[in-house]
Amino acid sequence: MKKRNWFVAVLVAVVLVFSTAMANAQAPKYVFFFLGDGMSATQIQATEAYRTTKNGGSATKAEDLLEKKNRLNMCKMPVAGMQTTYDAHALMTDSASSATAFACGIKTLSGVIGMDDTKTVSYKSIAQLAFEQGKKIGIITSVSLDHATPASYYASVPSRGYMNSIAEQMTRTGYDFFGGGGLASPTGPARDGDTNYNIWNLLDSEGYTVFNSRETIMGLINSPKSKAVCINPWLPDSAAMPYAIDRPKTNVSLREMTDVAIACLKHAADAAGGQDEGFFLMVEGGKIDWACHANDAMATIGDMLDFDRAVGSALRFYRKYPQDTLIVVTGDHETGGMTIGHATTAYTAYYEQLLGQKRSYEFFGQNQWKRHKEKYSAGYDWTPSNNLESNANMIKLIKDYFGLDWNTLNDYQKEKLEDAYDKSMVGENDNSAAENTYLYGYYEPIIVTLTHILNERASIGWTSYSHTGVPVPVFAQGKNAELFSGFYDNTDIAKKMAEVMDIPQSLPVEK
Ligand SMILES: [Zn+2]
Repeated sequence: MKKRNWFVAVLVAVVLVFSTAMANAQAPKYVFFFLGDGMSATQIQATEAYRTTKNGGSATKAEDLLEKKNRLNMCKMPVAGMQTTYDAHALMTDSASSATAFACGIKTLSGVIGMDDTKTVSYKSIAQLAFEQGKKIGIITSVSLDHATPASYYASVPSRGYMNSIAEQMTRTGYDFFGGGGLASPTGPARDGDTNYNIWNLLDSEGYTVFNSRETIMGLINSPKSKAVCINPWLPDSAAMPYAIDRPKTNVSLREMTDVAIACLKHAADAAGGQDEGFFLMVEGGKIDWACHANDAMATIGDMLDFDRAVGSALRFYRKYPQDTLIVVTGDHETGGMTIGHATTAYTAYYEQLLGQKRSYEFFGQNQWKRHKEKYSAGYDWTPSNNLESNANMIKLIKDYFGLDWNTLNDYQKEKLEDAYDKSMVGENDNSAAENTYLYGYYEPIIVTLTHILNERASIGWTSYSHTGVPVPVFAQGKNAELFSGFYDNTDIAKKMAEVMDIPQSLPVEK
């Protein structure tokens, strides 16, 4: 090599090393990704309108709505964007294909996790790629840890229903923290074709410790541990945490779970010493979606507030490490076709109506309604038109749990409730089958009709029991947050995350 060429080679090498170091210095060390399942602009606006009312203001006054204390943390972030949510073959995505899009950067079929739409090629998620880069990884969800959204960050399966197989893959991730709900199929196949592992044994042999009391979980804030699986003590439905509005004090909120994860991940990252690459934490508010499927605005709003408080925890961390932290908040799709406004209320809103609802549709169904039905369904004749009105116990339950006073309802609302009550009590009423499907979906007729009427009176409408195809907002704050402004596709979220974290491969990356 000639002397001059040698000099050029050295110069190029120095520039390369220097530019890599510069790039690493540009990348945020601590990355938070918050995902409100089923959360779009409507869920956000309804929650702010509710909070304004709860704080003594009016949801019909801009001055009150704009007050800082009534705004959500996510809405105060400096960068906002919007993403399209359709999957490879549907305008309305499900949570498996949407999570695969923003975790792996690829569009796929509804129901498929971490694989393409032929169900033959598996892809790495942004969390797996960050893990390979040396970051500590945490996954939190208010639903079960093997549910579609968290699963997309560590598993590849042709069907989201293979929850035992998903959980088995979870045990082999090497991730530092899992928290929230439990496991849907910890000791056997969830359905035909699924695996048959004992997940508790696998977690143990892979070095994980399971914590499932409030005391032991919260204790991790002061005594953080690596490889922790934190499961809320009460899992009322499908191994998910309860709705925030039903949560007893002995449970753990999403914010608290986030605080615990931050403590554990920061501790593990610091312990890596010279290899410290920081962490990536994904937090899912998974039951916003479930509440929207059931058309229950108050359960939705309760979980939205819980989710936004978890965002607040990340913001507190950001204020300590502003040069090293990035926070991104978005939803995977809208659920329920929720609207701000209703045919019966036109341009006015009455959010104070919502203040009377004490529990979610789920809690009411599992407790008060179950007991009521057991007591009154024997010998029930659905043909009289005033079965509900003549049952003082049910009229009182409606007032106590939904704040609805029978005497203030109009004739149409009363008729809808009478039909729903008959249908719930004995499975029959004078509606056509198609009308019943439209009115109740797959939900308990009397309960979904109660939330419909209460929500309508507040000026909130619902058009579906499924997901809808509207685009959803994205909020970002911190290092390189500007990258998340604009209107883009959900697969771009994964690509932007990879760019921001300096992941060398371009997405999607095959396993
Ligand atoms: Zn859903």
